[in-house]
Formats: sequence, structure tokens, C-alpha cells
Amino acid sequence: MSMKILFAASECAPLAKVGGLADVVGALPKALQNWGADARIILPRYQTVKIPEGSEQVTSFACIYNGKSLEVKIFLTKLPASTVPLYLVDQPELFGSSGVYGSPTSAPKGTTDVEKFIFFSHCVIKFLETSPWRPDILHAHDWHVGLIPLLIKVKKLPIKTLLTIHNMAMQGLAAQDLLDDDLINEPSIKQDWARYGKINLLRQAIVHADGVNTVSPTYAQEILSKEFGEGLEEELNSRGDVAGILNGIDDVIWNETNDPFITHHYSQFSAGLKADNKVTLQQKLGLEQNPETPLLAVVSRLTAQKGFDLLPPLMDELLAANFQMMVLGVGEPELEKFFETLSINNPTRFSLTKKFDEQLAHQMYAASDIFLMPSKFEPCGLGQMIAMHYGSIPIVRSTGGLKDSVENLEDDLTNSDAATGFVFEQYNSKTLLNILQKSLSLYTSNPEIWRQLQHSAMTHDFSWYASSRKYFEMYEGML
Ligand code: ADP
Repeated sequence: MSMKILFAASECAPLAKVGGLADVVGALPKALQNWGADARIILPRYQTVKIPEGSEQVTSFACIYNGKSLEVKIFLTKLPASTVPLYLVDQPELFGSSGVYGSPTSAPKGTTDVEKFIFFSHCVIKFLETSPWRPDILHAHDWHVGLIPLLIKVKKLPIKTLLTIHNMAMQGLAAQDLLDDDLINEPSIKQDWARYGKINLLRQAIVHADGVNTVSPTYAQEILSKEFGEGLEEELNSRGDVAGILNGIDDVIWNETNDPFITHHYSQFSAGLKADNKVTLQQKLGLEQNPETPLLAVVSRLTAQKGFDLLPPLMDELLAANFQMMVLGVGEPELEKFFETLSINNPTRFSLTKKFDEQLAHQMYAASDIFLMPSKFEPCGLGQMIAMHYGSIPIVRSTGGLKDSVENLEDDLTNSDAATGFVFEQYNSKTLLNILQKSLSLYTSNPEIWRQLQHSAMTHDFSWYASSRKYFEMYEGML
């Protein structure tokens, strides 16, 4: 009998995506099928997720939210472009009137994400209690489903739990007065929280899951320290078994040879055609059309984590150098403002697109020469892998999964046949400027080495093949 895995998460590409979490949840179950696993996904049905025609309603039940009984329906459909079964948890008030994150408009006023996802976790448990299909392993992703491992223990369900941590900085915190709500009526959970003094859903999962891993080997080491552990390093250290498995990318969605979002397809044998994508995008974004000008891309949440606060002190140098830069992302107001000012004052050199736009993201990976990701910390990072796959050379900081996935080009160029990008150590603007200048000068003065970098980056295997095997073996170990 094949091993049965249920992924529980708040995001899943392509249906509900905010960041890399969605890419992983949408791709890993497909890759696990190659090893013979029956991998399925359970996801809230948000406002933006339509229940496809022909979906089967597999069950319905009542679940208590703040003393009120709400009807929940579960539909079974398929993850788009796959044979992976997907359960959509339909509750119009709590999930159906909001995006992935943010307060639902038809729920009681002030309903927070913590409450929304605690409710989702209860729904998953009700489903597990009644479903004829029951997983051997519940694979929980991040804090949103952090309550599930403990709930499974409380209900004594014969299911093992694996927690994958995608970002230690997001933990699902709430004040203890949530304990007064009817939302959590398990005495043992109330006791656990009362003892800890506050509600922290990620901590709960770290303490109670049968297995814990994170999304790169380096980050798995880093989070055991005070600097990266975000206050939970003690809990992680006392487990002593936190594994690190590097994410992959979905090579069906990210395929430069037939990507439906880009106008000029290419491969590692014809990376020169990227220049056509460049000119097309320069025109679309109002940048000066010139295939020779190095074009930098940023596709990212614009938050402090991502390291863009290193750029404002470099304003003068950025203006003096010869390159163009396009930014796609939303985030913290000061960072948005910085990029906005640059683009308003220099519209033919800098562009900012302040939204989430899957199509433009694909076009930017395909059109850019350089991809900038100078993160302060980075659990894994998918942007740099997608960029390399698309022949855009990443500039990254040496942290977490960036360190594990990008091979730095040495100053003496001796490793030019193996290098895939530029990696800097010190988190400061000057170091970033140096490496930026180094990459720009190489781009213009040494096209041959640049082609080599591109070739190594594009031919490196960033697929899920190897990493999905590691997950499979981890499940086997737990069973
Ligand atoms: P994180 O998960 O921390 O946001 P990752 O690099 O792991 O960062 O994953 C980010 C994912 O989200 C990538 O697939 C990237 O292309 C995508 N992404 C980020 N911002 C945007 C945006 N504004 N529009 C489209 N895609 C975006």
C-alpha cells in the first residue's frame, strides 16, 4: 500500500500564493507521487479560489467558532495541471470572504489570522476524524497549521506529524485572552498556553510534532542560534533533530522553453534570446530599449528580511552606474517609497510595479540579466533558483538557502566553469555595492565568462527530484 501524506497549509500555488510557501505546497506533492506516495493537500477555500465544476462534496460538519456553530463543507478536486487530490475547506464567513491573509469581511469584526487558522486546524481534525481516506503522515507547513500536531495527539489519531518551517520570523502570536474564546476548548491546549504565558502556534508545533525540518541545511543550523532562532532556539535545540531539506522549483511552471507568459522562448543553448525578452519588457515597463544595458530584477516581498534597506544609502552610486532595474513587489511603505521615488525620477532606468503579478514575474525572470536578493536571512529562497534556471545571474547574501544554492564566482575567476552567481558575506551597503559593481563590470567586459555563468546556472538541477526523495525518506523514518 502506498504511503499516504496530507499537506495542510495556508498557501498553495497556483491557487493561493503570497510567497515561496505556496510554490512548495503546490509542487512537492506532485514530486512525491514519483516515489509512489499518495500525497494530497488540504487548503481553505478563500474568496479567490473557485470550486471547480464537477468537484465532489466529500463531507460536511459543524465546527464551533466563538460559541457559534458554523457549517463547513469539504470539496475534493485536483490541484490544477496535476493528479494530486486537493481538499478545499469551504466556510464562507471565515475563509470565503478574504484573501489568504487578512480579516474576513463577513466574520465577526476583528477576526484575526490566528483565529482564522486555528479554526482551519479544527476543520482539518474534524475531516481526519471522519474521512474514510486517512493519511499516515500529516505534513504541516508553518504556524498557520501549528495547532494540528497537538490536536492530533489530543484526539489520539493514529497519524504522525511533520512540521516544515518556512520562516522562523512568522509564528502566529496572540494574546492570552484568546483563551477565553470558545475557539479553543481543549483543556490541555489551554494549560499549555497558560504555562507559556502567550499563544505561539509555531512553538506549539515545534514542541508537539513528531518531526521538524526547515527548508535548507544552512537555515537548519542557523535557527539553533539566538541570532536566527527568533526566540524559539531553545525549543529547537531541545529537539535535537531539526533537518534541513533544500526546496526545489516546479519545472512545469518554471520552464523557459515553453513558458506561456513569455514571448521569446529559449534554452541553455540559446540564452542569447533572453535579449529579445529584455527589449519586449523594457518597452512594456517604459525603460529605455537597449539590449546591451544590464537589466536587474527584483521579484520579492519588500520587507526588511529581504535586505533592500541596503539600497537607499547607495542612491548616488545607483544613479551613477550604467544599468536598469525593475522591481515587482509589495511590502513595507518606506521600501515601496524608495523604489517609487527612483522610478518616478528616472523612469527610463528604474521601474516599480507595486502588486502581485505572476505573469510579470515570469517575464522579469526571463528578461533580466541579474537578479538581486541581498536577504538579511533567507530560509531557502526560490527567487534565486528560478532566476538561475532562467539564466538570470543572482546576487545574494551568504545566508540560509541562498548560501546553499548559489556558487560564488571567485575574484580570480578560477571557478568560472562551476560558479552560478555572486555571493557576499557582510550585511552592509558597501559590500553590496562592491559586488554589484563587480557583476556589472563582468557583464560588460567579459561576455564569455558571463555565458559560462549562465550555462552553469541554467543546467544546475533545481528540480524537486532529489529533495522530494529526502522528504520521502524522512516520512519513512517517522513511520
Ligand atoms: P518568500 O517565500 O520569503 O516570499 P521566496 O523567494 O521563497 O520568498 O518565494 C517568493 C515567491 O513569490 C517566488 O515564486 C516569487 O517569484 C514570488 N513573488 C514574490 N513577489 C511577487 C510578486 N509581487 N508578484 C509575483 N510573484 C511574486
